Amino acid sequence: MTGKETNPFENFCTQISNVSQYIAEEHQKYLDILKHPQRIYQVSLPVIMDSGRMKIFTGYRVQHNDIRGPTKGGIRFHPRVNLDEVKALAAWMTMKTAILNLPYGGAKGGITVNPKELSMRELEVLSRRYSSGIAKFIGPEVDIPAPDVYTTPQIMAWMTDTYSMLAGRTITAAYTGKPMEFGGSHGRVEATARGLFLCTQYTCEKLKKPINGSVCAVQGYGNAGFNSARFMSEAGSKVIALSDSKGGIINRSGLNCQAVLEHKQSDENHSVVNFPDAETITNEELLELDVDILIPAALENVITSENASSIKASIIPEAANGPITPEADVILRENNKLIIPDILANAGGVAVSYYEWVQNRNGDHWSEEYVDQKLQRWMKAACEAVWGLKEKHRVDMRTAAGILAVNRIVNAYKVRGIWP
Ligand code: NAD
Repeated sequence: MTGKETNPFENFCTQISNVSQYIAEEHQKYLDILKHPQRIYQVSLPVIMDSGRMKIFTGYRVQHNDIRGPTKGGIRFHPRVNLDEVKALAAWMTMKTAILNLPYGGAKGGITVNPKELSMRELEVLSRRYSSGIAKFIGPEVDIPAPDVYTTPQIMAWMTDTYSMLAGRTITAAYTGKPMEFGGSHGRVEATARGLFLCTQYTCEKLKKPINGSVCAVQGYGNAGFNSARFMSEAGSKVIALSDSKGGIINRSGLNCQAVLEHKQSDENHSVVNFPDAETITNEELLELDVDILIPAALENVITSENASSIKASIIPEAANGPITPEADVILRENNKLIIPDILANAGGVAVSYYEWVQNRNGDHWSEEYVDQKLQRWMKAACEAVWGLKEKHRVDMRTAAGILAVNRIVNAYKVRGIWP
């Protein structure tokens, strides 16, 4: 495996190139635009640590493309955050919002930090400093951030409060994924996983392979991973393996997802590892288990050309962004594995973020049932559109999703033109 294989932005560009043969000749020029993010901000964030020492963190905000509307995308706090990762995550957001036909473009942000090493005060100061650092470049009609890996509703509340203080008035629509007490929406916490479940259900029906009675493994046990495991389990899938950054667990008779979550929350290591009634496995072993459905719900590049031929699951819904490299994609396709691509499978999160933004802008408050029904309809429409293109062009779901997204973006360029 080369370093190039695991450069997420290079991988995004490869995915765009793979779609190009299905895009009309006169529209090829727009594909080049997508390979170049529109705006990139880098901010230095000095924080006085609890020790009294000052530490400088680096943060990013990439606004990849706004031809379809204000840019939208989460903020990641992780030690591995770097510009190429943020560029890729922003680009995938442009595709995702187009697939769902949201009036948005794509963006993403991040800070290179291990938040587990920060005290609560340090975390708040860093979050507020980042929010002030990007305040000039974002806003409800410009770019609307949200949570991603290791960022929470509380962090969104601090960031929205900071943005509001600088503006001199409360502007809840500046961020989404906020707590219910401060402009949050019903259904946002579990939205990504609910969307993933709906896509998996749709695909399983098409393949005539019921979720009920299937066997499943989930890598990553945070917001996307836990809720995906829960929905799968509620639909009758036996979840036999789960993992987080510290390792994984397996019980071939099935794991109780809620009990594992409670163990992770109360355990001194904050991990699924050491859950009673389960054996320990590594994250790498989890990916290669003999299951029907494998849900990668952690980080990028976990399935590469090195391990793709050892993957046994027949359906892989991508809860994480970019978990499979383009090289691995080819191998998995040859082995008849069906991948539900990230830009469709995890788009439920941005859909409900959009609902939150609409509610904030209208001073409205929707019920949980209303949000869930709306999400169901929208995810079904997106699945049908992608499946239709898959059949029409006889391609895999990632290519079909790419064709749908690129064509919608191209159509926006056609009517708006390239100014001046
Ligand atoms: P989270 O912070 O809630 O959880 C992340 C989980 O991944 C944690 O359990 C963590 O321990 C685990 N993890 C971290 N490094 C790991 C590693 N090397 N191996 C195995 N597990 C590891 O984050 P999240 O919001 O659940 O995001 C997970 C993925 O889903 C990311 O790729 C994110 O971009 C994607 N996603 C999230 C949302 C959302 O709304 N939260 C929306 C779309 C996509």
